[in-house]
Amino acid sequence: MEYLIRAILSDGIAYGRIKRINFNYNDILDKYTISDVKNAIDLAISNLDDMKSDNDSLNNYLEIQKMILSDKYLIMNISNLMKDHKAIDSINIAIDEYINEMEKSSSLYLKERVIDLIDIKNHIIHNLIGDNLNQNNDNKEILVLDELFPTILIHRLKNVIGVIAKKGGFTSHSAILCRAEGIPFVLVDDDIKENDVLIDTRRRIIITKPNVLEINRINEIKALEKNYINKAIDHPGYKFYANCSSNSDVKKAMDYGFDGVGLFRTEFIFINNDRPLTIEEQYNIYSNAIKLVKDKPITFRTFDIGDDKKISYIETNKKGVENYYNNPDLFISQINALLSASTNNNKKIKLLFPMIRTINEFNLLKKWVLDICNTNNYLIPSIGMMLETKDAIENINDFSNVDFISIGTNDLTKELYNFDRMTELNNHQLYIDDLLNRITKVIKFSNDNNIDLCLCGELATIKEVALKLYKIGIKDLSVSPQLIKHLNICYKEFISE
Ligand code: PEP
Ligand code: MG
Repeated sequence: MEYLIRAILSDGIAYGRIKRINFNYNDILDKYTISDVKNAIDLAISNLDDMKSDNDSLNNYLEIQKMILSDKYLIMNISNLMKDHKAIDSINIAIDEYINEMEKSSSLYLKERVIDLIDIKNHIIHNLIGDNLNQNNDNKEILVLDELFPTILIHRLKNVIGVIAKKGGFTSHSAILCRAEGIPFVLVDDDIKENDVLIDTRRRIIITKPNVLEINRINEIKALEKNYINKAIDHPGYKFYANCSSNSDVKKAMDYGFDGVGLFRTEFIFINNDRPLTIEEQYNIYSNAIKLVKDKPITFRTFDIGDDKKISYIETNKKGVENYYNNPDLFISQINALLSASTNNNKKIKLLFPMIRTINEFNLLKKWVLDICNTNNYLIPSIGMMLETKDAIENINDFSNVDFISIGTNDLTKELYNFDRMTELNNHQLYIDDLLNRITKVIKFSNDNNIDLCLCGELATIKEVALKLYKIGIKDLSVSPQLIKHLNICYKEFISE
């Protein structure tokens, strides 16, 4: 029997037994007391501590979960509700109240946090009914569930070899984690009834009861993948760049042999703090990043906030350059910190402006930066643009004076094809030909004008798409440091075709 994969959130092949997880608690005899609930919450908090790793974005996620679980109003609320309801119902009602408030919010950021609250709810209830999420054996398993919540995955990380879910988003924490860990994660419409399955994202199918030939084939592929260590293979003529959000990412990228940092998302430095960072604090971060890359290039994107990325202490609505004009102090402090770090380390850096729509916007920002440069005698940076808006790609010929271009497919596909970020990226079949046509024109434009071109969106993390991008002439890709094996495999396959 074969099931069609509707969407691939993380590439790969896995063969194993299925572990079904469902969140239907109707059959449970609910006799729990408030002190059982308290214990379940305490256990969840200590579970979160055990899950800390060297992945910054994951640790952030865990911290937020911990904050919500430690909120004394949560337990007070549940305790009140338990006067009229059973324990599981009370947990559901208490957390659903938060969820309803968030769903009403006009903030996309808050709306997206709903999934985190559902995760918390399931985590507490799992602990309460004794099905502690921690798994203390070595069984390898393929999780089958409606939706994969990060804590489910994190608890079972050493056991999970694949995930099959009904829904999920390409940019969700779970999908990012699966890609980083090399765990295939797919979405299907059908209920999988069998217990042994083979997930094969290359062929977009799930095979039940695979035959010996199938199993041998995947063993061969797995053996081949093992040959790739976390180190870049030789890739002459092409560049492997890293997308980083922190200096621990930069360090990882350098350890893995990347050619440089293609995109430092500086907004995370701001998002992770609840007050504006001083110039000195910013300076230290940028200066350390510059030291870490040594003689390799580093591209800092000026903070890209709005929509799903909010800074707690400033007002934002949409992403775009208006955020700089509405918050000039923040922009000026960032440029000063970046350029003084560059000058004091005697290293020219690359500055990248996000969400540029018109050449006029680009020129005004560039002038602003160059004025700051001249006043302070800073080293002049290369100044480039993210190509991630509909207006910019449709008027690409206007941009001949930019120093370099980085194509951001996450925002670009959202603008061109109306997909929001949480929509499964794997709808890419619907638009990939059109997108590749547009990118082909950009490649010609950048070749004609001698402008360096790189692509840093998540689309590059799908092997099939990366190969197509190589084929049309993109040579520089920028991906998370964990994906060095992905670049190795794509490069090797492309070259041997
Ligand atoms: C993009 O839009 O493709 C991109 C790389 O930027 P971000 O994901 O940070 O918006
Ligand atoms: Mg973007």
